[in-house]
Amino acid sequence: SSPVLTIDGPSGSGKGTISRRVAETLGWHYLDSGALYRAVGLAAAWEGVDLDDDEAVEACARRTRIRFADDAAGEPRVFVNGQDATDELRLETTGAAASSIAAKPGVRAALVDMQHDFRQPPGLVADGRDMGTVIFPDAAFKVFLTASAAERAERRHKQLMDKGVSVNLDSLLGEIIARDERDANRAVAPLKPAPEAVIIDTTGIGIEAVVARVLAHVHE
Ligand code: C5P
Repeated sequence: SSPVLTIDGPSGSGKGTISRRVAETLGWHYLDSGALYRAVGLAAAWEGVDLDDDEAVEACARRTRIRFADDAAGEPRVFVNGQDATDELRLETTGAAASSIAAKPGVRAALVDMQHDFRQPPGLVADGRDMGTVIFPDAAFKVFLTASAAERAERRHKQLMDKGVSVNLDSLLGEIIARDERDANRAVAPLKPAPEAVIIDTTGIGIEAVVARVLAHVHE
């Protein structure tokens, strides 16, 4: 089957930007697995699903329709149950909802096939927390990106400001640290590098340099 490059790491490590650039350069498909968890968190909120009811949230994950499509300007958009939810998906409140429902084994199981379906010729760049450890354990190439919490918060802050969303940097830092702790300490698919992953600390390193290092790993 087609080759896979997994890019895992905490929020704000640059995964999204790096993965998109690398996928574009290689001409491979791109999976934003975080968007799937965000979409389910959002759909659950829209539908008023009780987040403490594991079965109800899993059922919501199974019925939520998620579609990725580029708009006329080539910008990626995400549709949740037919609605363009791209902007709402980026909010840190949605990230927190995603992290909460992502700790449920039934929710993770509901999203496995959808993720495997992205593996198509000529190849796939898969971005997330458990791409190399759980979803594509046989991936030929595995990368784990990290960066200091302060820098990750600054990047998210800039991303949100660029979108016209004004947030407080200190509270964002606190939220990101709390989310990473939950992702790293959960029982199912915790955030951690696959043993064979190449670990790249992106603190203070520009996007192009990181892209080059990831591509070098694939061409090694
Ligand atoms: O990467 P992103 O910030 O969009 O992910 C949102 C949340 O979804 C993460 O904090 C994590 O809890 C969850 N997630 C996950 N497994 C993935 C991708 C995201 O549990 N593969």
